[in-house]
Amino acid sequence: MEKKRSITTQLKQLEKFAVEKGAYRAKVFDARLVVVDERVRMKCQIPLCPHYGRSLTCPPNVPTVEEFKKALDRYTKALLIQTVSPIMANMNDCSREEAKEFFEKHGKASSKEGQQQEVVEDFGNMRSAANKLHKLTNEVELQAMSLGFHYALGLIGGECMLCSECVGVCSSQACRRPYEARPSMEGVGIDVVQTCIKGGLPFEIPPTKEIVRTSLVLVD
Ligand code: SF4
Repeated sequence: MEKKRSITTQLKQLEKFAVEKGAYRAKVFDARLVVVDERVRMKCQIPLCPHYGRSLTCPPNVPTVEEFKKALDRYTKALLIQTVSPIMANMNDCSREEAKEFFEKHGKASSKEGQQQEVVEDFGNMRSAANKLHKLTNEVELQAMSLGFHYALGLIGGECMLCSECVGVCSSQACRRPYEARPSMEGVGIDVVQTCIKGGLPFEIPPTKEIVRTSLVLVD
């Protein structure tokens, strides 16, 4: 009973840690609610995603759906992490005032002019927003491990964007940042939309006001 209570406390700490590090929201939920669907993995090939076979964190360079399902069965908890950015920022036409208003509404703006600019620039394009969530996922995974969850495993949304270009097809080159690169959730068959609904953090599809990005850390 005492052990269960301390695990619950640690999981709450992990949610708090993610938000303190910059997540818009984070939620621990039952790992059995992670939805895996072969059709999601099939979408990597039909129609062919430009990252198929080109990114080391996308199929066929990641565990198969079957392999992932088997590993997922061994986990008891999972943590969804989400960041949010204004649609106009993703289209690179967001004015500083629009971004400031957005971040004030979401409690992320700073009163200092220099820091506001940093926020606008940080969310000013898709790559930096994706990499911000990627870094956050790495940090949460590490924190989970330091709390004693030795099998903590992070997965990101979409292809890895840590390098401007991945190593390339049949290059035989190793990943340049192996300790940071993490597989794509979709690549192992995770239905991100359904998982977010079941996990309690649904988001609007298609987005009309803001882009919500999601990553996942399996915890055990
Ligand atoms: S870190 Fe670089 S080399 Fe490694 S998977 Fe990501 S993009 Fe590719």
